[in-house]
Amino acid sequence: MKLIDNFLAVLSQSLSPHQISLAPDTLTTYAQDWSNILTPKASAVIFPESTEQVAMILKEASNHAISIVPSGGRTGLSGGAVAQNGEVVLSLERINFIGPLQETALTLKVGAGAITQAVHEHCEPNGLTWPVDFASKGSSQVGGNIATNAGGVRVLRYGNTRNWVLGLTAVTMDGTIHHFNGELEKNNTGFDLRQLLIGSEGTLAVITEATLKLAPLPRSKLVFFFSLDGFSSAISLFTHARKKMPNLSAFECLDRASLDSVVSHFSKPSPVKTPGEVYVLMEIENTPFEEAEAFLSELFDKNLVLDGVMAQNDREAAHLWQYREGVAESILAGNRVHQEDVSVPVACLTEFYSVIQERYRQSLPGFKVFFFGHIGDGNLHIFIPKPAGLETAEFISKMKKSDEELFQVLAGFSGSVSAEHGIGILKRHALHFSRSTAEIELFRGIKRTFDPKGLLNPGKVC
Ligand SMILES: Cc1cc2nc3c(=O)[nH]c(=O)nc-3n(C[C@H](O)[C@H](O)[C@H](O)COP(=O)(O)OP(=O)(O)OC[C@H]3O[C@@H](n4cnc5c(N)ncnc54)[C@H](O)[C@@H]3O)c2cc1C
Repeated sequence: MKLIDNFLAVLSQSLSPHQISLAPDTLTTYAQDWSNILTPKASAVIFPESTEQVAMILKEASNHAISIVPSGGRTGLSGGAVAQNGEVVLSLERINFIGPLQETALTLKVGAGAITQAVHEHCEPNGLTWPVDFASKGSSQVGGNIATNAGGVRVLRYGNTRNWVLGLTAVTMDGTIHHFNGELEKNNTGFDLRQLLIGSEGTLAVITEATLKLAPLPRSKLVFFFSLDGFSSAISLFTHARKKMPNLSAFECLDRASLDSVVSHFSKPSPVKTPGEVYVLMEIENTPFEEAEAFLSELFDKNLVLDGVMAQNDREAAHLWQYREGVAESILAGNRVHQEDVSVPVACLTEFYSVIQERYRQSLPGFKVFFFGHIGDGNLHIFIPKPAGLETAEFISKMKKSDEELFQVLAGFSGSVSAEHGIGILKRHALHFSRSTAEIELFRGIKRTFDPKGLLNPGKVC
C-alpha cells in the first residue's frame, strides 16, 4: 500500500466519506487558482470541519510524509494554492462560521473559510465593516486574505489585512493547535507570531480561525471618475486630493487600454465623455456633498482633469466602481495573461511608469500591455495577454526575458516584485530582486522551525 493510501485510510476512520474527495473534477478544481497557468495535480482534497480535525489531518500527514497545500477561495494570482506535484489539498471552506461580534471590542470571530464578502454583509447591519476589500471578495476567504496579507482598494486609508487581525488560531504540521495573541490589542511579550503568519502564504501553519478587528462603516462615501491626459497628471491629482480631502479612501488608476477592455467586455458606455490616456477612480469618506462639489469645480478650474463625474447616489457609485473592479476580469476572460503586481515608493511612481512604459514599447512591439492598480499605494498591475498566433512556449520565453528587465528596473527603484499577490510559485524566481540573500536565509530558517520536514505548501515562497 502506498503512503497516500495509508494516510487516507487512517483519515477515513475519523472523517466522513464526503470529507475526502478523489473525484477528478474536484482534484482539478481545488488544485488550481486564478493564475490558471500551472498544471494542477493533487492526490486528494480533504474538507475538515473543525480546528481539531485540521490538527488530526496534519499530524497524520506528518507521520506519513504527505505534503499539504492549504486552500482558500483560490482567487490567488501567484500559484500559492496550486498543488502540482501530487500534494493533498486541504480546503478550509467548511470552517466558515461568522460570529460572535463584540460591539465593545469591535471584533468578530470567524472561521478561516468565511467568504470575505459574507463577513462584510454580516457586519453591515451593525454599522461596522472589516475594511479588506477588492474585486475577488465574493470568492476569497478570510484565511486566504490573512495568508496573503491582502491589500485591495482601501489600503490608502485602512492599510493591509495585517492591521485588521487581532488573533489567530493556527495548526502547525506536527498537529499542534496554537492561539496567537488571543484577542489582545496590546501584548508586548516577545515575538508576534500572529504577524509572522500573516502573509506567510500557508507555508508555516494552517490558519483555522481568526479574531478580526472591525472599523465603523463610513457615514457616507462619494465616488468620482476622471479622465486625464497622462500618468503624471494622475499623480498631480493624487497629491492635490490628498492635501484637500483628508478622508480620501481610494485612489485607483486604469490606463486607456484597461478602460476600453472593460467597456468592450461588459458592453458598457464609457463613464466620462472626454477620453483620456489615464482614468482615476477616487473615493472620499465622510465628506459633505457641497465640499466635494467645490473640490470638483476646483479641479476643472485648475485644469487638473480633462473630464470627470461624481456619483449622485450609492447605485451610481457602485456603477463607477465596476469600471475599476472589472479590469482584471475583462482582460483575463478566455486569454492567457502574464501578470505583474509591482510597487515602488509613491514618490517614484511617475518616473517608474515612464521608464517601464518606454521599455515595453521597445521590447514588446505588437503586444498589448495593460496598466492599472492602486496607485495611491504605489502599486501597479501590469497585464500582458498572449497575442493571438504566438506559440505559448515563445510567449513564456518572451515574458521571462521581459520580467528579468522589469525586475532590474524595479530593483533600481527599491521596489517590490509582488506588492499584494504574494510570491507563491510564480514569483519565487524573482524574490531575490526584492529581498537580500541574508533575508531569504532567515526566511528558510523560520520555515524549518515551523515545518522541519518541509511538508506544508512545499515549493512556495522561498
Ligand atoms: C479579480 C481579482 C482581483 C484581485 N484583487 C486583489 C487586490 O486588490 N488585492 C489583493 O491583495 N489581492 C487581490 N487579488 C488576489 C487574491 O484575491 C487575494 O490574494 C486573496 O487574499 C486570496 O484569498 P483566497 O482565499 O482566494 O486564497 P487562495 O488563493 O486560496 O490562497 C492564497 C494563499 O494562501 C494560502 N492559504 C489559503 N487559505 C489558508 C489558510 N486558511 N491557512 C493558511 N494558508 C492559507 C494558500 O496556500 C495560498 O498560498 C485579486 C484576485 C482576483 C482574481
